[in-house]
Amino acid sequence: MTVTRFAPSPTGRLHVGNIRTALHNWMLAQKAGGQFVLRIDDTDAERSREEYVAAIREDLAWLGIDWDREERQSARLDRYEAAFDTLRAAGRIYPAYETQQELELKRKVLLGRGLPPIYDRGALKLTEEERAAKEADGVQPHWRFKLDHDKPIGWDDGVRGKQKFDPAQLSDPVIRRADGSWLYMLPSTVDDVDMGVTQVLRGEDHVSNTAVQIQMFHAMGATPPDFAHEALLVGKEGKLSKRLGSLGCEAFRERGIEPAAIIALLARLGTSLPVEPIVDGAVLLETFDLSTFGRAPAKFDDAELERVNTAIVHAMPFDEVKDRLPDGMDEAGWHAVQPNISTVGEVGEWWRLVTGPIERVEFAEEDRAYLGQAATVLAWSADPWRDLTSSLKDKTGRKGKGLFLPLRQALTGMNHGPDMGELLPLIGEEAARRRLERAAAG
Ligand code: GLU
Repeated sequence: MTVTRFAPSPTGRLHVGNIRTALHNWMLAQKAGGQFVLRIDDTDAERSREEYVAAIREDLAWLGIDWDREERQSARLDRYEAAFDTLRAAGRIYPAYETQQELELKRKVLLGRGLPPIYDRGALKLTEEERAAKEADGVQPHWRFKLDHDKPIGWDDGVRGKQKFDPAQLSDPVIRRADGSWLYMLPSTVDDVDMGVTQVLRGEDHVSNTAVQIQMFHAMGATPPDFAHEALLVGKEGKLSKRLGSLGCEAFRERGIEPAAIIALLARLGTSLPVEPIVDGAVLLETFDLSTFGRAPAKFDDAELERVNTAIVHAMPFDEVKDRLPDGMDEAGWHAVQPNISTVGEVGEWWRLVTGPIERVEFAEEDRAYLGQAATVLAWSADPWRDLTSSLKDKTGRKGKGLFLPLRQALTGMNHGPDMGELLPLIGEEAARRRLERAAAG
């Protein structure tokens, strides 16, 4: 069975980049009839916050991304400890004593010579006595995973195709700090094994982690999952990172963006498929395919999200939106206002034109007379606006703007707005006549 996972660290709120990864993993699982695991990567006790765990759940639920299982790394520390012991006994984990400054210096020297800053395995070269002396000095080691330099690393990436790494060109990763706390690399691999994860889809910033983790899977006697790395999201003008705070569910929700718009956009952004206002998850799922993912960075454009949102709102059936509409706004009201809004929250501004009170407009003498005439001509029928305007046209010879605009202004207090043919029946005969009379009175 296909098992995918989304593994956020609860050190902040989700942003478009994470949401996209979550969505794609969810879609992969759904498409395969498999399972989607939400894994909270909270081994960093200092930076992880319970409020972010709650926010992650809330945001995913708002988006309609549901998970089959939730796991937490902080509840699995004994598993990491056990894997650590096994790998250490097998000679794949070793203690290292360099300080941050020493490591930094080594890096600088290598970079200065134009060499890649690969860890020199200095810790492996220590003699027993040297190591004992460090320990006697009270230096606590941190721990590195020893890459097997004789085993070239390769995988067939779901997005990037064939990948090859020479392990000798990678640093043995630090997997555990001197205080015993865990870095990302080993716990994630242990989890992927224990949770039966079959497919890992994540950002391409993880490609070199994958190379290391593939050796970890093998060292643990496990088969690595299939890996795919998607191109990162960038903003229209380059990096997204500066704006990430404004690109989360909370901000989207406040702006009136529908979850469906976010899903429709992110499902296809960076793929060869066109971004369309598709609300039917089944359609998005049917066309979802890693082979359509491009290698170039995917451009996230707020304006595109707004366009998709507007299109979705314009096509939204009354039944789906009725619970979010102002009291008394019925299907005809929604239908009248719908083409004029780009977010559902904007309905109130237009619905006010029906319920009143409306703005007062100053009219010229001549228009006042015309509006007085309109008040007497107004009669109720299946289409009062058409009847009113055609009879005023005959009676006054007015046409175009001169015919329509004063009526719209008198009836709604505005120069533009929803179709008057739909609005007038909603305003009703009595209120309409009152508004015309009042405008005529000046
Ligand atoms: N917590 C990691 C991150 O947010 C998970 C990476 C992964 O998918 O393995 O980057």
